[in-house]
Amino acid sequence: MFQYGNIGITGNVPVLSTLNGRLSNRLARHFHAAPHRLPAHAPMVSFTFDDAPDSAAAEGAAMLESHGGYGTFYLAGSLIDQPGDHWRGLSSDAIVRLHRSGHEIGCHTYSHLRAVDLDESAMAREIERNRSYLLGIESSIRLENFAYPYGLASVWRKPQLARIFRSARGILPGVNSNVIDLQFLRASPLINCEIDTDGVDRYFDEAVASGGWLIFYGHDVVDAPSPYGCTPGLLRHALKAAVTRSMPIVTVAEALRRIGA
Ligand SMILES: [Zn+2]
Repeated sequence: MFQYGNIGITGNVPVLSTLNGRLSNRLARHFHAAPHRLPAHAPMVSFTFDDAPDSAAAEGAAMLESHGGYGTFYLAGSLIDQPGDHWRGLSSDAIVRLHRSGHEIGCHTYSHLRAVDLDESAMAREIERNRSYLLGIESSIRLENFAYPYGLASVWRKPQLARIFRSARGILPGVNSNVIDLQFLRASPLINCEIDTDGVDRYFDEAVASGGWLIFYGHDVVDAPSPYGCTPGLLRHALKAAVTRSMPIVTVAEALRRIGA
């Protein structure tokens, strides 16, 4: 499973519920779906950054903008402006800049805890704490969309989150096409350790063929990325792949508007 080691948030990912967590994640793929049929042939791509490192907010966002696109940044309040093993969390000023320039601020859990480790009231507290933290930075931020920390969904928390958010994103790779689950959006890694330029191109070709919605997820954007991030070169390749195929580069919120969700 997707782990950070210790970036100052989760040296102690709870192990007690790992088995239940995997089962819950697996069941979440199949239960409590929010099915939505995509309109005919409207391929598009979203670039999402989790947590988010300062390099994603700086270099990553600037590269998206220079290709006419905007990204979604799923933030956990406890990581803002904090140092970690792999990167420094983006600053409050960076959040304001992202929001005002047209990027989307999305929601993680405040403490970056996994959904499978939170009961209903603990999840509610995490979401409300994150919301009030981020709105304290910029009051016009609207948290419409959620991403599961570590990509690990919970069959129990899924219906709860569906009442709060328009969508939830995991890290199950593949293109969202035909009838998609808004509460378990697929996302493919834009992570050098996991994919190369050919792999990126294959996802784009699949999105064009299916008329689907391709979502990438990643973290830092630097020349020597962490095991969870990408180089500017890989991001540039993906952005050019979108432009070449005339695929709009849109936030998750904008993509949902375009598909009428
Ligand atoms: Zn995260």
